[in-house]
Amino acid sequence: MPTRRTFIQHAALGTAALAATPFASVYAHTSRTRRQKIGIALVGLGYYSRDLLAPALQECSDCYLAGVVTGTPSKAEEWMAEYDIPEGNVYDYDSYDQIANNDAIDAVYVVLPNALHAEYTIRAANAGKHVICEKPMAMNTAECIQMMDACAKNKVKLSIGYRMQFEPHTQAVMAMGQEQQFGPVRHVIAVAGYREGRPEHWKTNGPMGGGAMMDMGVYPLQGARYVLGEEPIRVMAQTTYQRPEMFEGRADETTMVQLEFPSGAVAQLTTSLGFGGNYLKARAQQGWFELEPFSSYGGITGRSSDGPIDFPAVNQQAVQMDDQARSIRDDQPMRVPGLEGLLDMRVVDAVYASIASGNAVELDPWS
Ligand code: NAD
Repeated sequence: MPTRRTFIQHAALGTAALAATPFASVYAHTSRTRRQKIGIALVGLGYYSRDLLAPALQECSDCYLAGVVTGTPSKAEEWMAEYDIPEGNVYDYDSYDQIANNDAIDAVYVVLPNALHAEYTIRAANAGKHVICEKPMAMNTAECIQMMDACAKNKVKLSIGYRMQFEPHTQAVMAMGQEQQFGPVRHVIAVAGYREGRPEHWKTNGPMGGGAMMDMGVYPLQGARYVLGEEPIRVMAQTTYQRPEMFEGRADETTMVQLEFPSGAVAQLTTSLGFGGNYLKARAQQGWFELEPFSSYGGITGRSSDGPIDFPAVNQQAVQMDDQARSIRDDQPMRVPGLEGLLDMRVVDAVYASIASGNAVELDPWS
């Protein structure tokens, strides 16, 4: 497991080089001037790209759908027609690296099965493109480090598609917890699940990145981490199967995790591909706050011991991609950088190690 110290030593060269590089020289090889809107190519045209990201890109003000990467020629035709994408901005998985020669595409958004995130992030970085990568960042921390190294080496930005961190109710509970508005938070409970009914889908296939912890589990894990603003030091986890014929030996169906934090706070997380659930509750020393739902695409609602947590609804994917596009355009740090994905995967690695051994896994303090 990487610690903060070993990670920083490992990444120091790349990060320092990136920080010292002015915006203009990052782009020197493309001899391009700044454009107002960042061109994004979606990589993988499955459910999330089709139903959420592409429609959201139509609402974005700082980025637009410039291209697509797909292995299915019929999808390429449909998307070109529907979104007015020129043929020259359409790639398949073999021609993907040629995206390096396309000035219209500033960034790729990797929306592939989780086992492919590292490969397609690294190839994009080597092609000189900024990367937004869907959650979970990768299969393990080793892959996360390779992805961050590739982006640092190529002087491109990396962000993870954690849309909740761009959502106002979520930002409010992050502030309540991290700024200790109700005193120190002592206990977090978070649940995220749905009933997956597709036995052949990659989400039920561990080696492809399937399983409850990898899929929905990162939402309660994020919730505990962003409410507390600290990294766990002890992880204990168990898995159960409601449908062993579909999951056992393939991927975790329902996983329960107990986390202990340096402050003494504890968190209980439950995630499932067998049943639904969607809430986050935090108990602090002088009060409490909660969101239910806390990870849906819309309708996030909350309350605290002081009253309702109430903000206007936003298109989460649109505000996320606009924020990421502005960071790219203005050469500012990403709100949700690759490190955020790595810190989740460090815990996910420990969750699976704990399930395998039946014992708690100790993590070195991160700071
Ligand atoms: P999906 O199965 O619907 O789409 C995956 C796409 O990848 C398909 O178009 C498929 O053809 C393509 N693909 C390429 N190579 C493949 C291979 N070897 N095996 C299988 N498919 C292959 O999946 P999805 O639900 O769109 O999820 C894609 C990513 O987006 C995942 O990382 C997932 O965790 C993430 N996601 C995030 C959110 C969110 O709210 N942030 C929501 C849904 C999915």
